[in-house]
Amino acid sequence: MTTAAPSALKAVTILGATGSIGLSTLDVISRHPDRYRVFALTANTRTEELFQLALTFSPRYIVVRDEADALQLQRRLHEVGRETDVLFGAQGLHDVAAHEAVDSVVAAIVGAAGLESTMAAVKAGKQVLLANKEALVMAGHLFMTAVAESGAVLLPVDSEHNAIFQCMPGDYRSGLARVGVRKILLTGSGGPFRTTPLSELASVTPAQAVAHPNWSMGPKISVDSATMMNKGLELIEACWLFDARPEQVQIVVHPQSVIHSMVEYIDGSVLAQLGNPDMRTPIAHALAWPQRIESGVGALDIIARGRLDFQEPDYARFPCLRLATEAMQFGGTGPALLNAANEEAVAAFLAGTIRFTDIPRVIERVLGEISAVEPQLLSDVQTADREARQLAAAIISDNR
Ligand code: NDP
Repeated sequence: MTTAAPSALKAVTILGATGSIGLSTLDVISRHPDRYRVFALTANTRTEELFQLALTFSPRYIVVRDEADALQLQRRLHEVGRETDVLFGAQGLHDVAAHEAVDSVVAAIVGAAGLESTMAAVKAGKQVLLANKEALVMAGHLFMTAVAESGAVLLPVDSEHNAIFQCMPGDYRSGLARVGVRKILLTGSGGPFRTTPLSELASVTPAQAVAHPNWSMGPKISVDSATMMNKGLELIEACWLFDARPEQVQIVVHPQSVIHSMVEYIDGSVLAQLGNPDMRTPIAHALAWPQRIESGVGALDIIARGRLDFQEPDYARFPCLRLATEAMQFGGTGPALLNAANEEAVAAFLAGTIRFTDIPRVIERVLGEISAVEPQLLSDVQTADREARQLAAAIISDNR
């Protein structure tokens, strides 16, 4: 790889550029050509979409999964006179995440597949805009240790964690008790099945599960929202990001998705961040932090919204919430096992192989059959991930 000439513009790599978060990030960036330049964009298999993005944003590099696709894209880019170089595979992702010319890395690959490249950005001391919550869930302790050692600046993009970050005092890393924070109120809409009769949950379809009432997102996180595993993963994410204990994070169901989360202080103050449910707000916040930039999101019409409701989460309806809390309490590789089993179960549900209500059953069996260990290296986390996937796949196949 060659080194790009220095520039006053912030150089941004987007890992997972063709996804929902990736495209929202590009939308914000395209509004600020005086601030940002796109250094690298990555995709997995949607190569045509990536090619079109390369034509629009002229990145220095793009990355795809397969070598054959990379060669074909390289030829096409040269034919139209573009200087973008095409890389492929895990090494390509690593290189554009850690490249010395990069200032900010948006970690927006979905699932465990984003772990290595996100860690590469962290270890290279980049400003890391974290959407890929699974990476932090899987490898929390190793991840946060790497942040501390490398001096990486970790900015949460997940709307709830971005909201919490905005409501925290600047020195929150010195300890929640020291800065007077009593607890975090992590809000969630409850997803599309919040009021569906329990007897109907077994027969809901993937199309119904991905139709989130308030947010437009990729398929995996949409199913996670429907099971509320997303809130469970976010509980774990919040514990790592803000050095909180699970009992300091209260999950609150808030169907309108206007308040994106809150922080309660010992003096009784509760600070909340509100806004329309559009990921461009937290993305713009993280991109420009500590400044503010226009994001393309309309103003919140609080009068039109009228009312805001809050409820206790229903643990009987959403067993994934309990499973995530237990996995965090197991510690070590517990959350990695949870995450891997969940990814396999969600993929099987989306493929029509198992029912919606089988998702927590698969996860519960994996957590019951594999013991969590304390990981010393990233490879320990990856081993746990592999074992959990193999077991989940066997359970799913027996289930058929
Ligand atoms: P999408 O499914 O929309 O996009 C995923 C991106 O990751 C795509 O660019 C995809 O490439 C790429 N990708 C998928 N698998 C691999 C792989 N094995 N190797 C390399 N790249 C891969 O997901 P979202 O944008 O919805 O979510 C991304 C992350 O952000 C998730 O961790 C999610 O939890 C988190 N998040 C998302 C929110 C949202 O509103 N969407 C909100 C908060 C957090 P390709 O297009 O080629 O398949």
